[in-house]
Amino acid sequence: RFDKDFGQHILKNPGISDAIVDKAFLKPTDVVVEVGPGTGNITVRALEKAKKVIAIELDPRMGAEVTKRVQGTPLAKKLDVILGDVIKMPEMPPCDALISNTPYQISSPLIFKMLAMPNPPRVAVLMFQREFAKRLVARPGDALYSRLSVNVNFWATCKHIMKVGKQNFKPPPKVESDVVRIEPLIGSARPNVAFEEFDGLLRIAFNRKNKTLRAAFSIKEVLAMCERNYKVYCSLHNIPIDESITTSTTAATTSDDMDVDMDDDDDTAPADADADQDEDEEDDEDDMPTFFKELQDAEAAKETAKTPSRNPKSKIALVVKAKVEKVLTGTGLGEKRARQCDQNDFLKLLLAFHEEGIHFS
Ligand code: SAM
Repeated sequence: RFDKDFGQHILKNPGISDAIVDKAFLKPTDVVVEVGPGTGNITVRALEKAKKVIAIELDPRMGAEVTKRVQGTPLAKKLDVILGDVIKMPEMPPCDALISNTPYQISSPLIFKMLAMPNPPRVAVLMFQREFAKRLVARPGDALYSRLSVNVNFWATCKHIMKVGKQNFKPPPKVESDVVRIEPLIGSARPNVAFEEFDGLLRIAFNRKNKTLRAAFSIKEVLAMCERNYKVYCSLHNIPIDESITTSTTAATTSDDMDVDMDDDDDTAPADADADQDEDEEDDEDDMPTFFKELQDAEAAKETAKTPSRNPKSKIALVVKAKVEKVLTGTGLGEKRARQCDQNDFLKLLLAFHEEGIHFS
């Protein structure tokens, strides 16, 4: 019996298991990680082509099943089964290729986990529910464009490979599926910024993707976080905060009134802006650092009211506010909305913030 809570929809069409493995273009020297081998339909094919398959499986019954399937065959010594939740593993094992008929509930955290790897695999061939796959390839302006889309297109290239109907699974899922091929940028091609920094900026921008970036960066909790991180930056680089205050005082004073009325700033937002927000939150569920949980949680936001930036007289708060304004004006991105910006806009914004000593992780 298959466990729906574990997203167990077993592939019953061997042609699709073959196609998934074929599209990874495995070499005989490759180490493959397979997430959720289930009964081993994809696993056995990968074992035939690669040096090793590390199969990570949450359900011990399935772990036993896939082990039994290759027992007594030459493939057995190439298979390592790790029992556990791939998302809870501190690190994914290093590998050349990642393959999965992905359990739908870990789609987003699995992608983020892979993209955040300092040495990600050369290729990932992954099956997802169609709606999720569409979000991966969404472009600026598309309804499904999200923080996930930007990250995937910044850290990797992503191609749709094939459609898979629900009748190919046992039991059939409620929705259709798609297979995508993701090629993370590796070595010198990988962008030279920290994953947490880029993603931290995106979390702020996409927290309200239909608002202007100026509005997103005017939220008090966001400014409070910038302020906390700026203080750490100053102390790490021996920058006397007083001096920085002196040099920025003029700008700080003039930007004192830059708070934007969030409710008035939604003139061009579609009527279903809230629905879009729900989508964004979906991305964040499993891998959200504490600050961002607070940002989306009204109760927690009240807590942060005690932070120094809530005090309008705090000099450092004024300096940070002025720096934020300088970045938004200088990049020309203040009036743009996250849903319209591409990955290059976000990189430009991040580098400009870094110039000013403002960080997001
Ligand atoms: N690969 C098999 C196939 O294609 O026939 C099974 C795929 S089934 C959609 C997903 C598999 O992932 C199930 O075996 C399930 O137990 C496993 N799984 C679910 N959540 C997991 C997690 N967090 N970590 C590792 N495996 C997980």
